[in-house]
Amino acid sequence: MNSNTFHAETHLSHRSNWLRASVLGANDGLISTASLMMGMAAAQPEFQTLLLTGTAALAGGALSMAAGEYVSVSSQSDTEKADRVIEARELTRNPEAELRELAGIYRQRGLSPELAQRVAEELTAHNALDAHVRDEIGLSETTAAKPFQAALASAAAFAVGAALPLAVTLLSSADVRVPLLATGTVLGLGGLGYVSAKLGGAQPLPAVGRVVAWGVLALAVTGVIGKLMGVSV
Ligand SMILES: [Zn+2]
Repeated sequence: MNSNTFHAETHLSHRSNWLRASVLGANDGLISTASLMMGMAAAQPEFQTLLLTGTAALAGGALSMAAGEYVSVSSQSDTEKADRVIEARELTRNPEAELRELAGIYRQRGLSPELAQRVAEELTAHNALDAHVRDEIGLSETTAAKPFQAALASAAAFAVGAALPLAVTLLSSADVRVPLLATGTVLGLGGLGYVSAKLGGAQPLPAVGRVVAWGVLALAVTGVIGKLMGVSV
């Protein structure tokens, strides 16, 4: 635990980043795989074809999520590193101006000029670069970008979301596949929306409504496509 353990209240914003990422990942996996399966199921293909398509969709989607997340978080991490380098250079070139700058930041945050100066001096003596990176640029250990972790989390979240419609499709018989898939998807999306709203401290009902509405739209569109293609082939 960190130094915040004496706080009684639970803060939501610290976990909102990874939470948003994993809920979005699971949502993606659920909606994209469910709508693909719906399109396929409506065309009534062989079981083997469903199995192959669904597995490929899960693997491909998870990898694509991982790749996208890795690239985006890496570039964020590069920017943070570049900022540290710039700040370190400024600190060696112009330590007095940097100290004044730091004291100015603490004055702006409400400290008296004397105290701001003292805080700036003590933090500069302790670790000048950390103080500047944290209080001037706003970077910290908790916000430090971790590309590989983010990539793995997104891929796992996508796979979890994709597993539900895939399992429903493969385990149900052809005559009930479409209604079961639709029901399972709506329930899954509703559950995800509920969990994300609860954990994020938001009202559950609008969150559930939003995500279910988009899911139903996706299912309807691909279901119609599958039906049309299935008939015309
Ligand atoms: Zn600075």
